[in-house]
Amino acid sequence: MSITFAIDNGSDYIRNNKPEMIEVERYDCQCVDFSENGKAEPDCRECKGSGEVKFDIFPFEMNVANGNAQTVMNSLGLDFDYCGEINPHRLLKAIQRTPVELACRQGSTDKGDRGCTIIRMGIDIKQANSYLTRLTAIAEEACKREEQVIWG
Ligand SMILES: [Zn+2]
Repeated sequence: MSITFAIDNGSDYIRNNKPEMIEVERYDCQCVDFSENGKAEPDCRECKGSGEVKFDIFPFEMNVANGNAQTVMNSLGLDFDYCGEINPHRLLKAIQRTPVELACRQGSTDKGDRGCTIIRMGIDIKQANSYLTRLTAIAEEACKREEQVIWG
């Protein structure tokens, strides 16, 4: 599970004003991977027979694992929920007063109930810095557009 931070109405804004900023990510569809002849299934629901799946990647969006989103929000002193919105000025203030080290988290390895290994990945300083830098860019752009920063 993951959470995407973005600007409210962000994809509409980019489509209408700066479509050149949309990047398209392309993957081979799973139906190609699982086919015996290496060809796409003509009636595949994912790719509709093209063999390719495409995603639009919008600027000013950040996708992070749930646990990391919670760590970042908590380190900023903000309430965490799986979705929500925040005034970008408030978010910027929270980022500016927060030492990046606070968003770090120690990784760990445990044994689960049935003997399986549970690895918690942690957040190192480089990753924490990347999160706060990207959130700052999202919040600054949201200020310019007078929109809320949303996540979910
Ligand atoms: Zn397919």
